Amino acid sequence: MRLPANVNWSFMTRPTHTNQSPLKELSLGAIVELLRANGMRITKNRMQILDTLLRASKPLSLDEIQRRARVAGDAPDYATVFRVMTLLESLQIAQKVHLNRPCSYYELVNPQQHYDHIICTECGRVTLMIDSCPVERVERKIGKQYGFSEIRHSLEFFGKCPECT
Ligand SMILES: [Zn+2]
Ligand SMILES: [Zn+2]
Repeated sequence: MRLPANVNWSFMTRPTHTNQSPLKELSLGAIVELLRANGMRITKNRMQILDTLLRASKPLSLDEIQRRARVAGDAPDYATVFRVMTLLESLQIAQKVHLNRPCSYYELVNPQQHYDHIICTECGRVTLMIDSCPVERVERKIGKQYGFSEIRHSLEFFGKCPECT
């Protein structure tokens, strides 16, 4: 698997600010094109994995991705799911979140947008905090103080959602 030093995003349109899920900004076509450009052959199984991720309304575990990507008895094997997710993560269009549970969950992210998560400890609902990152300023301060650039973070807040309160 060849990992690029620089990812070319010029073929993706810049997202506008809407209240929609940022996941909708990513199109299947753009992701497929990016994966091809990075040396991945797009098989039917891999296509099913991407489609599953795009349609998911919450982060999914590797098991869940594999189960949901099954079409007419044809399911990708676990190694394929892992390989696709690892490549997507290295290209920064998927990220791992932990949701306070023992396994990792994956979701697609738009590299031009940032958001954090609030997770309901009662029902498990995951809410994306779009346009309201609480630590952007802190990030800049950390960068300055420690001489780091391109600092990223992924925050998970926990609490009870309106329906469970
Ligand atoms: Zn809840
Ligand atoms: Zn943030």
